[in-house]
Amino acid sequence: MNRFTEGLESHLARQGMSRREFLKFSALMAAALALPKRYATQIAESLAAVKRPPVIWLEFQDCAGCSESFLRASRPTAAEVVLDVLSVDYHETIMAASGNLAEEAKKQTIDAGGHLVIVEGSIPTAEDGIYCCIGGRTAVDILNEAVSSAAAVIAVGSCAAFGGIPKAAPNPTGAVSTLDLVKDKPVLNLPGCPYNVVNLTATVVHFLTFGELPAMDQLNRPLFAYGARIHDNCERRGHFDAGEFALQWGDEGHRKGWCLYRLGCKGPVAFHNCPSVRWNDGANWPVGSGHGCIGCSEPDFWEMGLYNVADIQKFGAPSTFAPVVGPVQTIAPPTAALIGGLTGLAIGAAGTAAYMQLSKKDHPDESGGNNSEEKK
Ligand code: SF4
Repeated sequence: MNRFTEGLESHLARQGMSRREFLKFSALMAAALALPKRYATQIAESLAAVKRPPVIWLEFQDCAGCSESFLRASRPTAAEVVLDVLSVDYHETIMAASGNLAEEAKKQTIDAGGHLVIVEGSIPTAEDGIYCCIGGRTAVDILNEAVSSAAAVIAVGSCAAFGGIPKAAPNPTGAVSTLDLVKDKPVLNLPGCPYNVVNLTATVVHFLTFGELPAMDQLNRPLFAYGARIHDNCERRGHFDAGEFALQWGDEGHRKGWCLYRLGCKGPVAFHNCPSVRWNDGANWPVGSGHGCIGCSEPDFWEMGLYNVADIQKFGAPSTFAPVVGPVQTIAPPTAALIGGLTGLAIGAAGTAAYMQLSKKDHPDESGGNNSEEKK
C-alpha cells in the first residue's frame, strides 16, 4: 500500500499527524461547514478512507494572491494539502515540473477524468482571447479542455468567480468569470480578494465526505461561508446600533474601535465568514485591524468605490441572535419552513461559534478582542 492507494488517515499518521490531531481537524471542518458536531465523525471516517482527488489548478488573469492564500493554509498545512488531501497534478506556480513534463501531467489527469478544476483569475475573451495565452493557447481553450472531463469546478477569488478587477470598467480584455464560460459542469464560487483557504479546504472536505459540492446561494457561493452578512457578525456592530462611528482615520472614534461604516465599510452589503474565520490562521481580519470591509466577496466590488458609504437597503436580524418562535398549534407547511429556516440559522451560528472556539484553542495568547485600541 502506498500514498496513492491507502486511506488519508493512515498516510497522515505515517507523516506524524496523530489520531487526535486528525479528529480535531475533522471537527474543525464540521464547524467550518456549519454542520452539527456529530458530522465530525462522518467526516473523519470519509477522509480516513478517501483517495486523493486529482486537481488541476489554472491561473489566468490573476495576481497569484489566491495561490499565496493557498500557501498560507495551516489546517492542514499547505504542504499537506498539496501532498495529501489533494493531488495537485498541475499548478504553474508551485509544481516542480515545467514545460512538456507539466503539460503531460495535465493531459494525463484530463484523460483519466473525474478531477477537480480550480480556476484562479478571470478569462479574457476580447480579440479571440489573445490577452492571456499559455504555451500558445488561449485561456478559453485551456479552460474548456481542463473542464471537459472534470467532476466539478471551483472558482477561487473574485476574478475567477465574478471577473474581479480585470473586469472593472472599461474591461479592455473582455474579462469574464468561470461561470460565464462553464455551463455543463457544477461550478462553485469562492470569491474574495483573496479567497480564504479555510473555505476551500472545507469545500473539498464536503466534496470528499458527501460526494457533492455544498449548498450554494444564487451566486454559486457555499452557504456555509457566504450565508451571513458580515455586518451581522461584526464585533463593531454594537457601535453601529448605538450610532457610534469613526468619521476620520485616527479620530477618537477610530481609536476607540467604533463602527467604520462612515469610512466606507461595506460590511452591511457583503456576505462572507471573515468575522469568524478571519485570516492568517485566525489572527485578525480587516475590520479588526481598523479598516472597513471593501466588499470583495461581492460582484463588481471594485465599482462600489472603496471609501464610498454603502447604500443600505434593508437589514436582517444578526445571525447569532437567538431565534424567536411563537406558539405553534399545528405544523402547516409554512410553519415547517419557518422552523427549518430558524433551525438552519441556529446551526449556522453554532457552527460559527464552534469554529471560533476550536480555532482559539490554538491561540492561547489571543484575548478574543480584535483591536487593542478598544481596550483603552
Ligand atoms: S458597518 Fe462595518 S464596521 Fe460597522 S458594524 Fe457593520 S461591518 Fe462592522
